[in-house]
Amino acid sequence: MTAADILITNARVLTMDPARPKAEALAIAGNRIIRVGSQDEVAGLKAGHTRVIDAGMKTVMPGIIESHVHLFGGSVELDTLMLNGISGIDAIASAVADYRKAKPGEAVLLATGIAHEAMGEPITRQILDRMVPDIPFIVGCFDHHTMWANTKALEAAGIMKGRALPVGNEIVLDHNGIATGELREPAAYMLVQALTPTGGREWLGMTTGENPAPPATAAQRALDMNYFKQGIAHAASLGITSMHNMDGNWYQLELLQSLLDRGELNARVEIPFHHKNTFENARVEEAAEMRAKYGRHRTGGDMLHCDRVKIFIDGVLETYTALMLEGYPDQRDNMGAPLFTAEDFNDIIRRADRHGLQVATHAIGDGAVRRTLDAYEAAITANGRRDSRHRIEHIEMIDPADMLRLKELGVIASLQPIAGVGVPGNPPEPILSRVGQEKLPYAYAWQTLRETGAVIAFSSDWPVAPLSPFLGMQAAMTAVPMCEGCEPQAQSLMDTLHGFTAAGAYTEFMEDRKGTLKDGYLADVVVLDADMESTAKDQVVNVRPQVTICDGRVTFEG
Ligand SMILES: [Zn+2]
Repeated sequence: MTAADILITNARVLTMDPARPKAEALAIAGNRIIRVGSQDEVAGLKAGHTRVIDAGMKTVMPGIIESHVHLFGGSVELDTLMLNGISGIDAIASAVADYRKAKPGEAVLLATGIAHEAMGEPITRQILDRMVPDIPFIVGCFDHHTMWANTKALEAAGIMKGRALPVGNEIVLDHNGIATGELREPAAYMLVQALTPTGGREWLGMTTGENPAPPATAAQRALDMNYFKQGIAHAASLGITSMHNMDGNWYQLELLQSLLDRGELNARVEIPFHHKNTFENARVEEAAEMRAKYGRHRTGGDMLHCDRVKIFIDGVLETYTALMLEGYPDQRDNMGAPLFTAEDFNDIIRRADRHGLQVATHAIGDGAVRRTLDAYEAAITANGRRDSRHRIEHIEMIDPADMLRLKELGVIASLQPIAGVGVPGNPPEPILSRVGQEKLPYAYAWQTLRETGAVIAFSSDWPVAPLSPFLGMQAAMTAVPMCEGCEPQAQSLMDTLHGFTAAGAYTEFMEDRKGTLKDGYLADVVVLDADMESTAKDQVVNVRPQVTICDGRVTFEG
């Protein structure tokens, strides 16, 4: 028997393996778990070089699998002035002043995570000028749909008097035709984001799906790889060992492959081909080329892979762009803003499915979920049934008539508990008004979906929300019904943990090697500082990893 490199003892192991849900200890050799069992069963695997981690009777669980993140963008945001949760002009101004004192040499100031209403009045370039008059100052909304820029930034980008942009994108102008500072949607805000040190490269996989043009220089690549490393270190500190990315391009794959080649990739990452609505339908087949080079089948595929297409069918409820079956309660004729016709969407999904690719579709409104399920069903009709595991991202609303179709079609529900409207602390508006009383029982219907037998994977959508899975876990477990007659949607502890581990592995076609703690599986493990089973539901946000292990290597120690 091989000796262990790492022994975790004195633990309350939650294996997520139904055949053996609990254990006391586990042993790791190389990048594999060699034994999960009792103290006695692993004791004999100790050798001179073995590192023993005493878990202190706290929870040990599979490394967390984050099923929906934007890793590159999130990584860069860690290095910006983060305004999440700060409100009031004075509080924001003092955060800006403190940040500039701490980082005096910056040529451009980028702030992120602000809410639309954070200043108590519309955000304008004039307000931003009072805080930062001398250098470009750019403030991003947490939802990544809007940014605001001061006069220096607008001038440097050459857009003080606006510019013609693709439909849906806007440089907002005042009645004199001068920019107010508000920039709506990527084609508008990328013009000022180009002024930042990364030139906005971190969002290309989201906004255009294209690579940097002209190609990134060696220095730019080094800068961007460093951001990835920082973002992955942040993830490791939160117990995360795998991430499913939701934007992508060849450039991201190249950077992560370089990190992998250097032995510096400290989490498993999956990057999709992002099919934009600006592409010809047939271009989705480029995803098969990405898979040929980076698929999970290849050496290194357990650490970095591309086997999936990401696509958006609609927008979000807040801005009335989510696609509705029956219009918005206060705008009955407004069905939202689908990004593809049903015909084009069916054609794209059919093409991807024919190549054996998995598809993940962003669908928020009940009309979007219907259209996505219809396309997945049409692909089965055209190409035959296979183990496709197509996914739907978000599902904030679903028509009761569609509820059973996920299970029937083998579709995975990829949900973000932290965004739930019933989660204590989340403001109910504007979501309640967009959904309407009538449809509230089928909004954020996590448990109703689970009871249909559909597989449910959990995530954060970082940096739209903070990355911490413990925030998401608490949200999942503490959500309260939003109406009389609304079914409780709160999740049990074990279902919650399943959504952050085994379900993510299944979603990635890797349930045969990760997501549970089992002999022979990849050594992705997290040791927590609490016993999850005896932690009060409203205290889960305070749980911290003590040690994170990915691929047999310690990637974080608290
Ligand atoms: Zn997302």
